[in-house]
Amino acid sequence: MTAESIGLVWFRGGLRLQDNSCFHTALKENRQVFCCFILDDHYMRGPDIGAARACFLLETLALLDQSLQKLGAQLIVRRTADAVHEIAALAHEVGAARVYANQDYLPYPLRRDAQVQELLRSDGRQLCLHEDLLLVPPRLVLTAQETPYTVFTPFKRKWETLLQTPSRYQSEPLLHKLKTDKRFPSSSVPELSEYGMSLKQNIEPGGEERALQQLERFVSSGLPEYHLNRDQCALLHSTSRLSMHLKWGTLSIRDCYRAARRQGGPGADKWIDELAWREFFYSVTYHFPHTLQGPMLPEYKDFPWSDNQEHLQAWKTGNTGIPFVDAGMRQLNQTGWMHNRLRQVTASYLCKDLLIHWQEGERYFMQMLVDGDWPSNNGGWQWVSGSGVDPRRATRIFNPILQQERYDPDFAYVRQWVEEFGTARYPLHPLVTHEEGRRCYLDAFQRSAAGRQALREQHRETAAQSRQNRLFE
Ligand SMILES: Cc1cc2nc3c(=O)[nH]c(=O)nc-3n(C[C@H](O)[C@H](O)[C@H](O)COP(=O)(O)OP(=O)(O)OC[C@H]3O[C@@H](n4cnc5c(N)ncnc54)[C@H](O)[C@@H]3O)c2cc1C
Repeated sequence: MTAESIGLVWFRGGLRLQDNSCFHTALKENRQVFCCFILDDHYMRGPDIGAARACFLLETLALLDQSLQKLGAQLIVRRTADAVHEIAALAHEVGAARVYANQDYLPYPLRRDAQVQELLRSDGRQLCLHEDLLLVPPRLVLTAQETPYTVFTPFKRKWETLLQTPSRYQSEPLLHKLKTDKRFPSSSVPELSEYGMSLKQNIEPGGEERALQQLERFVSSGLPEYHLNRDQCALLHSTSRLSMHLKWGTLSIRDCYRAARRQGGPGADKWIDELAWREFFYSVTYHFPHTLQGPMLPEYKDFPWSDNQEHLQAWKTGNTGIPFVDAGMRQLNQTGWMHNRLRQVTASYLCKDLLIHWQEGERYFMQMLVDGDWPSNNGGWQWVSGSGVDPRRATRIFNPILQQERYDPDFAYVRQWVEEFGTARYPLHPLVTHEEGRRCYLDAFQRSAAGRQALREQHRETAAQSRQNRLFE
């Protein structure tokens, strides 16, 4: 690059100015840098898009634009159905030799970026992709045979060996390169209503300033005891509530990792384990993209799921008569966020007790969650349903009553979300009791291809075990 060159930063995720690899590199390599966001339908329309996530995105874009304006720049927003041609046209318009963006790993962005790369190249320009979303890129975390991991613990072990603590990208001394009198045509950040959506949930505000404050608060108040409190769902700071910021990149994952490492101790170690789950599910999605459409394990394809719409509706609205499940679903419906313990319990109740297809739950979560992220959501649902990467598979059935006794013994969480709990307005009997649901599920499982496969594996394991035992007799 010559010292005279112009760069264009193409924000997609990574919606922040601090510690952002593509933004920092663009500033370093160019004399002048412009910034843009291409708001295509992919972000705003479709059966999995919900008001909470869309609203968080729009608010964050408006805040990003404000931050850039303070620096004498603008966020060029283009609304289009065709991101590929729009970004290529914009690079031409601003005279950028290079377009800088952060690497994404999902099938659509990978396809889109390959097309953009081609188009830019044919015009003598370049798309420069930078690692930013994860601590370790998924293509690097491989077994000794160079195959991807399908089980979390060995993945984490390998992932840890590849972890580094990179120093923070310090962009402040370079920010003057954003300042310009030039203004390019730009849409204003649209209102949610323009997409036919209205927000009924009380969601967390977006933006990078808020994200950093939240990280700081969590590190001082929640992280030291995270290993002890993370499942105490009624406790406000038992977990970080940073998932929406990690989803949209209003917070740098490296900032999270560095903050935890600096603090150290068992709380920080446990929290880093959770960050590793996020990376694991990204790796699974990257290496096995078909899991976004269906079960990882083919034997689950013909599982005899129930299509009881009444049950599904009761689950969605938090009216199953199981207090812990109802509280979780209402927290989701009211705030766009749900505690991890409750995500597991509500998901298990849907697909194990009500026997309803996990993809129904997966879609509903995507529609309602402010942090809805394909890899973690899909991974979470497949993990709970047993159809994905998980050695314990079908035998994991959460008992929602025991879970509540253990993690919400005083019903504080339940009372917070189920206002009529303990009154005559709350059902005396659940829709389906856990015992009843569990029995039906196990019965269906044993008759299914998945059950037969599990039995074969069990036999193989028992045979291997007895061979092993004989070796030591
Ligand atoms: C059925 C189901 C669906 C889920 N859907 C999503 C989703 O759409 N988006 C999402 O970000 N997480 C999802 N999770 C994972 C987890 O529940 C949330 O990341 C977590 O509750 C967010 O709260 P927190 O930020 O306070 O987490 P913390 O406990 O503070 O953890 C820190 C960060 O680690 C990551 N993380 C923690 N646990 C997990 C996990 N089990 N899997 C993947 N990443 C994890 C998240 O980025 C989280 O913000 C799902 C889990 C299940 C069981």
